[in-house]
Amino acid sequence: MTKIVVVGGGAGGMELLGKIGRKLGKKGKAEITLVDVCDHHIWKALLHELATGSLDEGINAVDYRVHGANTGYRFEQGALSGIDRINRKVILAPMTDKDGIEVLPERQIDYDYLVLGIGAVTNDFGIPGVKEHCNFLDLTTQAMDLRQKILTRFLQYAKNPDHDHFEIAIVGSGATGVEMAAEMHHAADILRGYGYEISPDLLKVNLIEAADRVMPGLEQDSLQKAVDTQLRDLGIEIHTGTMVTEVTAEGMKTKCGKFIQADLMIWAAGVKAPEVLSTLDLQTNKANQIKVHQNCQSIDDPRIFSFGDCAECPQPDGSFTPPRGQTARQMALLIGDHLMKLRKDDKAELKPYVYHNLGGFVNMSKFHTVGNMFTFMKGGVNVHGWPARFVYTTLYRRHMLAIHGPVKGVFMLALNGMQRWMRPELKIW
Ligand SMILES: Cc1cc2nc3c(=O)[nH]c(=O)nc-3n(C[C@H](O)[C@H](O)[C@H](O)COP(=O)(O)OP(=O)(O)OC[C@H]3O[C@@H](n4cnc5c(N)ncnc54)[C@H](O)[C@@H]3O)c2cc1C
Repeated sequence: MTKIVVVGGGAGGMELLGKIGRKLGKKGKAEITLVDVCDHHIWKALLHELATGSLDEGINAVDYRVHGANTGYRFEQGALSGIDRINRKVILAPMTDKDGIEVLPERQIDYDYLVLGIGAVTNDFGIPGVKEHCNFLDLTTQAMDLRQKILTRFLQYAKNPDHDHFEIAIVGSGATGVEMAAEMHHAADILRGYGYEISPDLLKVNLIEAADRVMPGLEQDSLQKAVDTQLRDLGIEIHTGTMVTEVTAEGMKTKCGKFIQADLMIWAAGVKAPEVLSTLDLQTNKANQIKVHQNCQSIDDPRIFSFGDCAECPQPDGSFTPPRGQTARQMALLIGDHLMKLRKDDKAELKPYVYHNLGGFVNMSKFHTVGNMFTFMKGGVNVHGWPARFVYTTLYRRHMLAIHGPVKGVFMLALNGMQRWMRPELKIW
C-alpha cells in the first residue's frame, strides 16, 4: 500500500488530510501518517485570539489522534529532524517533556511520498534580545503561555496602585500585530466586566513598525487608513518608521534613539521557515523555504512535496507564492490531487499551482473588520464592518468543514456556536 507521510497539520496540512484521509486512508487505499510537534490543531490565523482568551482551545482545538481515527490517518507526535532520502524515511527528534526528560526516542517513518508543510516561525532578524525577551505567536503552546502572562499581569497591575499602566509593545503591524493589538483592548473590556479592577487608561499598547505606515502589505489605501484610524481610536500608540535595534527585559531600543518601555513584548515582524528545513539535503532559499517546482514537487526529489509558508513556489510572472492562509490551503489541496493520481500512475502529469489572490481581511476584534474581495474585478471590492466580519468568520467555517467533512462539519460548527454562547466570552483559566 502507498505510504504517505504529511509533516505539519496546520492550515494547509489539515485540509490535505481531510481530503486524502477520506478518499484514500479510510478506504484502505493508502497508509497515511501525520507528524506534528503539537498534539492538536488550531487555525494559526486565530492564535492571537487564543492568546487573549477570546478563543477557547477546549472548544476549537482539533485533536490529531481523534481526527485521524475518524478521518483515516495515523498520528505520530514529534518534531521533524531529518530525512533519509535513499531509504525513504522521515526522522523525528526524540520527544522530551517540560522538564527535559525523554518521553519517546528518535523515530523513523517510511514513506513513498512525503509532504512537508511545517509553516513559518517569526523572524527575529538576529536582533539582540528578541529571542530572550519577546513572546511569539508561532505555536498554540506559545499562545497559551502568552494568555497566562496577560491574565496574570492584568490581575497584578489592576490591584497595584504603583502601576499606572500595563505597557505592551508589539513589533510588526501586519495582520498578526494589528489584530493582537485590538484583541488586547477587547480582553481588557471583558475582564473589566468580570470584575477585574482595570481603569480605562491602564492598558497602553505600543505598535512598532519599521515601514512608514501600518499594514504596509495592504494595497488599498482606504482600508489601510481605516485600520490606522481604528487603532488610534482605541488609544493604541503607533510608532511607524521605527526600527528596533535591541530588546532588553525593560523594553525596546530603537534606531532613532528612543526607548519604548514595556511590561510584555510580542514580536510579530516577518516570518521565515523553520531552520530544520535547511538541514534536509533539499535546496532551500535564504528564508529556509524548500524550493519546489510550480507543481509543488521538490526540485531535488519527485517524491517530496511542500506547500504553504515553508515552500518557495515559482509563479509564471517570476514571483513566488506569498505566505498566506489561502496559499497554504490551495497548494495543499492540489498536492492531494497529485497524490491520488500518483498512487495509480507514478508517472502521472501534475498540474502546476497558480496563485489567485482571493482578497484578504483584517479583523480588529469586536471593534471593526475591513477586507477586500471579488478580486476578479479590477481592484476588487472593499468591505467594512459586519459584512467584512461575516466573510472573515466564514473563512474559518470553511476550514472546519474541509477538516471534518460537510455533515460532521456543520454539526461541529453549530455546537461550537452554542458553546460560545453558553460559555464566558473570555477564557480566564
Ligand atoms: C496571529 C496570526 C494571524 C494571521 N492572519 C492571517 C490572515 O488574516 N490572512 C492570512 O492569509 N494569513 C494569516 N496568517 C498567516 C497564516 O496563518 C499562515 O500563512 C498559514 O497558517 C500557513 O499555513 P501552513 O499550513 O503553511 O502552516 P501552519 O498553519 O503554520 O502549520 C504548520 C504546522 O506544522 C507544525 N510544525 C512546525 N514545525 C514542525 C516540526 N519541526 N515538525 C513537525 N511539525 C511541525 C506546527 O505545529 C503546525 O501544526 C496569520 C498568522 C498568525 C500567526
